[in-house]
Amino acid sequence: PPFWFSPKTGIYTSKFPSVHLPVDPNLDAVSALFSHCHHGDVALVDSLTGFSISHVELQIMVQSMAAGIYHHLGVRQGDVVSLVLPNSVYFPLIFLSLVSIGAIVTTMNPSSSLGEIKKQVSECNVGLAFTSTENAEKLTSLGVMVIRVPESYDFDLIRIENPEFYRIIKGSFGFVPKPLIKQDDVAAVMYSSGTTGASKGVLLTHRNLIASMELFVRFEASQYEYPGSSNVYLAALPMCHIYGLSLFVMGLLSLGSTIVVMRRFSVSDVINVIERFKITHFPVVPPMLMALTKKAKGVCGEVFKSLKQVSSGAAPLSRKFIEDFLGTLPHVDLIQGYGMTESTAVGTRGFNSKNLSRHSSVGLLAPNMQAKVVDWSSGSFLPPGNRGELWIQGPGVMKGYLNNPKATQMTIVEDSWLRTGDIAYFNEDGYLFIVDRIKEIIKYKGFQIAPADLEAVLVSHPLILDAAVTAAPNEECGEIPVAFVVRRQETTLSEQDVINYVAAQVAPYRKVRKVVMVSSIPKSPTGKILRKELKRILTNTISSR
Ligand code: AMP
Repeated sequence: PPFWFSPKTGIYTSKFPSVHLPVDPNLDAVSALFSHCHHGDVALVDSLTGFSISHVELQIMVQSMAAGIYHHLGVRQGDVVSLVLPNSVYFPLIFLSLVSIGAIVTTMNPSSSLGEIKKQVSECNVGLAFTSTENAEKLTSLGVMVIRVPESYDFDLIRIENPEFYRIIKGSFGFVPKPLIKQDDVAAVMYSSGTTGASKGVLLTHRNLIASMELFVRFEASQYEYPGSSNVYLAALPMCHIYGLSLFVMGLLSLGSTIVVMRRFSVSDVINVIERFKITHFPVVPPMLMALTKKAKGVCGEVFKSLKQVSSGAAPLSRKFIEDFLGTLPHVDLIQGYGMTESTAVGTRGFNSKNLSRHSSVGLLAPNMQAKVVDWSSGSFLPPGNRGELWIQGPGVMKGYLNNPKATQMTIVEDSWLRTGDIAYFNEDGYLFIVDRIKEIIKYKGFQIAPADLEAVLVSHPLILDAAVTAAPNEECGEIPVAFVVRRQETTLSEQDVINYVAAQVAPYRKVRKVVMVSSIPKSPTGKILRKELKRILTNTISSR
């Protein structure tokens, strides 16, 4: 057997040598980040205005903002603060300032509805939020103190228009007593529904963030010149999701790279930004890759001269997308990465290779990570070439779910193994292929949607007796949520009424996009929705058209 697989234990180990992670139990993630010192180089750039700060400036600004947050806002260790923000240079600055003083950050997608924000605010006990104008009112109505984050980087203007933020970012010369932060303390609460049920708070510790950063650094360094300071990354993925957070708020900053931040993804803007800032690396989700490929066909190749690598993650990448991209931009290396919120995005990463089959693999296990492939009927651990549920173990694995020991116990099994809910296999070279998903989540453009969350909204409708949600495949978005609805007899409730009802209560990306009226929802004797059966009904409805 290969050195990275043990037939006796069924454990796959990384093909990379182990990385020595910091052992000091009293180390916070921000100190760990700034222990990698990068003089002079540009750290963060705003793609619209060109406003930029260097790595050294970032460190100074984080210190001063931390003091501002401590003295002007009274935030203390253990307080939970929410970030409901689109991408900006301020995002990493605020996140790092808060985490450096021991506060716990919970991020929310800025397109979240009032109901979604309310759930997270109450579960996490959020008292303070940094947000943009559009969400300020929702948070205030929930009794959360709000700090509005400006769109501009013109500090003279900010001083006049938003003196409160100005005061905080300029900080205070007052002394900030550095609290004792342990690696095991929680630093962030990110939301994910895991393998089943409603979305839950994922508790990520300083240790998790440090691991994600250090292991990522090692990965990148093994592919490119080290340090990676000559690389310019485009940050169009949302920083509120673990993928964007682990890359743009920690990993790449620790590597000394330059990060060009876009507020939101727009493919025509992306082309201009790639050319203007000579982007070398572009992390994407599959729909962004498809949009980029389409657009690139009509654009002069010179525009993409600087681009070396596009990396895709968060959802499956179809072979068609891969071939189309490689045919359009053959000089660009395409790799995939795999991870999940519950593993702080640590999982695998692809490697520089022109071999097509490698592109459809999500790459090799990250250093310090172990995996098992579990046969779901017999529970046995499978060798290379065999498909089963992927379990992973390592320093990126979360502490657990917030206030939910039952869900934690179901997800972290046999002491330390994280059940991913993904079906996968390793090939003979140790490359991992994700082939299916047994967990309930729907992945719309790389974003998670928990069917249970939508089901709760559906059954709150007075004319809906029962409902269940599942995914239908969709070329552009990966998957879309489809609702099966049992309506009250003799009502005129239409499919469109149902779609509108849900859309009014959830973030736009989470809305139901198709409705099937049924007379009953298939359920087990214990009342559990038979999701496989739903998928079967859906396939039959589509094929009978
Ligand atoms: P999230 O916690 O939102 O990052 O979602 C994690 C899940 O996204 C994984 O468990 C997979 O189901 C899916 N996923 C992430 N990366 C990939 C990939 N490269 N290929 C296929 N599925 C992926």
